[in-house]
Formats: sequence, C-alpha cells, structure tokens
Amino acid sequence: MNLNLRIDNLPRVKLANLPTPFEEMKRLSKALNGPRIFVKRDDLTGPVFGGNKARKLEFVMADALEKGADVVVAPGSLQSNHARTVAIVARKLGVKAVLVLRGEKPQIYDGNLLIDKLFGAEIRFVQAKQHEMEFILKSIMEELREKGCKSYYVPPSPPLGAVGYVNAFRELVDQAESLGVEIDYIVHAAGSGATQAGLLVGSKAFNAKIKVLGISIEPDNYQLVKTTLTVAKECARILGLNVSLSLNDVEILYDYVGEGYGILTQEIKETIKTVAQTEGILLDPVYTGKAMAGLISMIKEGYFEKDENVVFIHTGGIPGIFVYKDKLIS
Ligand SMILES: *Cc1c(COP(=O)(O)O)cnc(C)c1O
Repeated sequence: MNLNLRIDNLPRVKLANLPTPFEEMKRLSKALNGPRIFVKRDDLTGPVFGGNKARKLEFVMADALEKGADVVVAPGSLQSNHARTVAIVARKLGVKAVLVLRGEKPQIYDGNLLIDKLFGAEIRFVQAKQHEMEFILKSIMEELREKGCKSYYVPPSPPLGAVGYVNAFRELVDQAESLGVEIDYIVHAAGSGATQAGLLVGSKAFNAKIKVLGISIEPDNYQLVKTTLTVAKECARILGLNVSLSLNDVEILYDYVGEGYGILTQEIKETIKTVAQTEGILLDPVYTGKAMAGLISMIKEGYFEKDENVVFIHTGGIPGIFVYKDKLIS
C-alpha cells in the first residue's frame, strides 16, 4: 500500500482548512540576499486562529471519538496553543474539554486563555513542576472516570498527531512541485516534537532529499531530540512504514533560543515587525517569531547557498501577540 493510501485510511475528522497556502516570501528573501524563502501558512489552518495543532488533532480527535470519549483532557502552559485548540475542536465535535494548565489563576484572561474561556472549557490551574504533571493528570483522569465520564487524554505530542505532519509534508511537496520549486530545507519552531517527527517520517517515506531543521524555542530541552525520534518511530509504525530513523536524522538547533521560553527579546520583536512589514504576515512572540529570527540569523551566517530553497512552516500561535502587547510596541 502506498503512503497516500495509508494516511487516507486512518480515521480522521475534518478540523483544518487544507491545503494551507504555500507562498514565496519574495521581499524578505530579497532583503536578506540569501536563499529563496517560502512559507507554508499553517497559521491559517483554522478552525479559530489556526496553527499546527489543528492538523494533529484531525487524527487524534478521530481516535477519541472512536473510543467513545465525551471529555477530552489537555495539558499545557497558561498560554498553551495546544490547550486552546483542543478547547475549540472539542466544541466543534460536541464533547467537553478539561484543560490542565500549569500556573497561577490569572487576574486577566488574555490571549489563548481568553479563547479557552469563551469556548467554555473547564480550566484547572495547577501549581506544579513539569515532572509532577503526570501524576496530576492521572488523578484528574481518575476523578472524571469516577464521575462517569469517558475521558480521553490528549498529550501535546501524540504519534497519531504526528501523522498530521506526514500529511502536511505530502501537501507541501505537491504544492512546491506544481510551482516547479525543489525544496532543500524545511525550517520550523520545535516544541514538543510531533511536528518535526511527522515531517521526518514524510521526508523518509517519500524519499525526499529535504532537510528538516527544528529550531528549539526552549534552552536545555535536550530531551527533545530523543522524544522526536521516539514519536517519529511510533508514527511510522502507525502508518505501517518500514523506514529507518536514527538520532542523526533529528536536527534540532539550540542556538536561537534567546533568553528562554516565552521571553521576548529585541531580536524577536524586530523579526515580527520585519516580517509583518515586508510580507504582510504575522508571527507570534513565543514560537514562530523566535524560529524566524533563527532562520534570519542562519541566512546572515551563510548557512544556506543562494540557489537553495527554504520553506518556513508558520506553525501559528497568533493569540500570543495580545499577551505581549506592551512589550511588542515599546
Ligand atoms: C506547539 C507549537 C509549536 C511546536 O510544535 P511541536 O509539534 O510541539 O514541536 C510550534 N509553533 C506553535 C505556534 C505551536 O503552538
């Protein structure tokens, strides 16, 4: 069975508007005088505010529905794009969302949190360290079960979600081909690993000579390389693909993490303004602004040849803009 069929045979619910546009960033490429830069507009996946989570959830939510879930439980940080997207798609599919967010209950609900609220998600604020989350989530799942709910846990990086990015890879290659563009690199923000895992599996399965570069948005997140490989292998297994994947395939760059997760640096701020004002495209402060700042630095450092084609995946995160409103225009 070919890969297209394998993807199309998996249970899936339609949540994203696909294919997303594929565009050349002509003015930005010209200003940087480097490779041609293209952008895959996954900020436009929808259903509300878009982003990469919508693609993943098409496969994950299909699984949840198949298993009879009436409540989906999603973890995240206070401004989690994952949690926000789960809150939205849950309503689209007629199930309830419980969001378990790490942090203190805020005075003002802004950005993603505002959207979580408007969609009526049940929000549990938990003061916990990352390693304590597993225990907390288990006890919440147990509590829901005792209440008679059929709950389904939606982690940020499920291998089934990575299938969404195998699918994105196929979509992207088709679009590039019809424009007569041969892609050399795909560059994207890497957080929990599923996006990169899916792209890697796609690249292997289609035998493409495309390098996938994840730009870590978090320092010291060295576990990410291993997680990405594990998710990629499991994703390949789900698709019944016999591809060889090793740690060498996972390229994650840690040079552009700036001052830490969610910290808006001058460079990210400049990048957001530059891309807005040269291309009419809005990046977010936490993920895509940082990854694009990284890409621009790499271009300035001479990482790419001038005749190469680089695709930046805009993974979304737009509600984050509003949380940083004061810092962005100061
Ligand atoms: C979640 C997220 C990412 C990272 O994707 P992973 O698959 O978790 O690596 C990148 N950009 C945005 C805007 C995100 O919300």
